Amino acid sequence: MQDKTIAKLLKSEKTHVEVTVRGWVRSFRSNRFIALNDGSTIKTLQCVVDFENFSEELLKKVNVGAAIEVKGTLVESQGQGQNIEIQVSKLTILGEANPEDVKLTILSPKKHSLETLREQAHLRIRTNTFGAVMRTRSKLAFAVHQYFQKNGFNYMHSPIITGSDAEGAGEMFRVTALDARNPPLDEKGNVNFKEDFFEKEANLTVSGQLEAETYAMALGKVYTFGPTFRAENSNTSRHLAEFWMIEPEVAFNDLDANMDLAEDFIKYVINYALENCADDIEFLENRLLEEDKTKPQAERSEMKLREKLHFILENNFKRVSYTEAIDILKNSAPNKKKKFKYIIEDWGADLQSEHERFLVEKHFKTPVILFDYPANIKSFYMRLNDDGKTVRAMDVLFPGIGEIVGGSQREERYDVLLEKMKTMNIDKEELYWYLDLRKFGTAVHSGFGLGFERLVQFTTGMSNIRDVIPYPRTPGNAEF
Ligand code: ATP
Ligand code: MG
Ligand code: MG
Ligand code: MG
Repeated sequence: MQDKTIAKLLKSEKTHVEVTVRGWVRSFRSNRFIALNDGSTIKTLQCVVDFENFSEELLKKVNVGAAIEVKGTLVESQGQGQNIEIQVSKLTILGEANPEDVKLTILSPKKHSLETLREQAHLRIRTNTFGAVMRTRSKLAFAVHQYFQKNGFNYMHSPIITGSDAEGAGEMFRVTALDARNPPLDEKGNVNFKEDFFEKEANLTVSGQLEAETYAMALGKVYTFGPTFRAENSNTSRHLAEFWMIEPEVAFNDLDANMDLAEDFIKYVINYALENCADDIEFLENRLLEEDKTKPQAERSEMKLREKLHFILENNFKRVSYTEAIDILKNSAPNKKKKFKYIIEDWGADLQSEHERFLVEKHFKTPVILFDYPANIKSFYMRLNDDGKTVRAMDVLFPGIGEIVGGSQREERYDVLLEKMKTMNIDKEELYWYLDLRKFGTAVHSGFGLGFERLVQFTTGMSNIRDVIPYPRTPGNAEF
């Protein structure tokens, strides 16, 4: 372990001290200046090498991508853009990188498209963009735990393998206990998947909510934060087959309290990122400004990244009923001049992300929480309103993204839930444990699910969800 990371060194006031630093070479200019990065910051440390003091053979190995160790004295820098640099006295090559091989990869120092970077997901983390995104992701994950822990929530680990389909949407991956060397074969010699999870059916979880409810009804406030899976064959910029979901669940909270929690939580974690990832977010903002220059005026973003983040912090989330939203959409005739083409919706239809974005970006110009959706487009467990046709559901809508949170107050009444399950064809035997919660000390409770990648996407300004998770799982893509 090295004494100090480059992030720490660059902040230190003390010069004329001996330091040892290890990292990867980003560039080696005029055989004299090595830009060294160790992943702790977007910035590089300038290492000044007096080439007379080192053999040519050694210097030849200081190639882009190589891992090196430098020992030397920290001195004030005359160069622009940095306060300090290292005057190198000892240079060790830890791991070479052959320039001919580097040229064939995204490590070569030129601009690579995000698509190209995706093809080399194991190397893209060495780029500035991915360093910035993944450090921000890590900090956001920490902020998630910090928020809930500070507020008295218990972290609950919901199972990944489960028999229940929480959403009832049938978008699950089936788990199969397949012995690869000795697979069960049917008469025709085909692999027989019948046995599945040791003679039981099991799936990868689509949501930990139902299990989290059982814990909320004992511990009061809980949250899950783990991987969830959706077998949806969607190739959008906002969907993954494997994503991380944050799901708080709180006993005695109604829908209004649930909205308060969602708003407070989101503001907390975004503020945390602004305060703790300032360099990375600044870099990402500049990256977006550069990207914008290549686009026609109409497609450029209206707000800079940090403005967008402050937009969330500084606005109250506007709470609007689904019915009101439909009226707004109906009365907003499609207009080709406007950026978004949206179609007029009828009451009862689910909103598309264009409608959601229209409400946020064009109509209210604040983040929006839509609530009281039609019962038939939402899951079985949501609390039925007295009108008999809407449920206490809420979606939090963000600019550029649309839905970032889906949540609800849960149906706490045994008879109503049972009836609902019947009409929606949900097996009451399988979910007896879920119904039990309504038999033994039932109470109002609510919670929501926030897709962590959508949060990272918003905070980093990355337009494709594939670029905010280390190894994106999209249809047919599980290579590594
Ligand atoms: P969408 O309408 O965008 O498909 P959803 O309504 O199907 O989302 P929910 O079941 O409400 O999603 O899940 C809660 C949250 O999880 C969503 O608000 C979103 O942030 C996130 N999410 C859902 N599906 C995905 C996915 N396939 N990839 C990444 N995040 C997702
Ligand atoms: Mg969906
Ligand atoms: Mg949705
Ligand atoms: Mg939803």
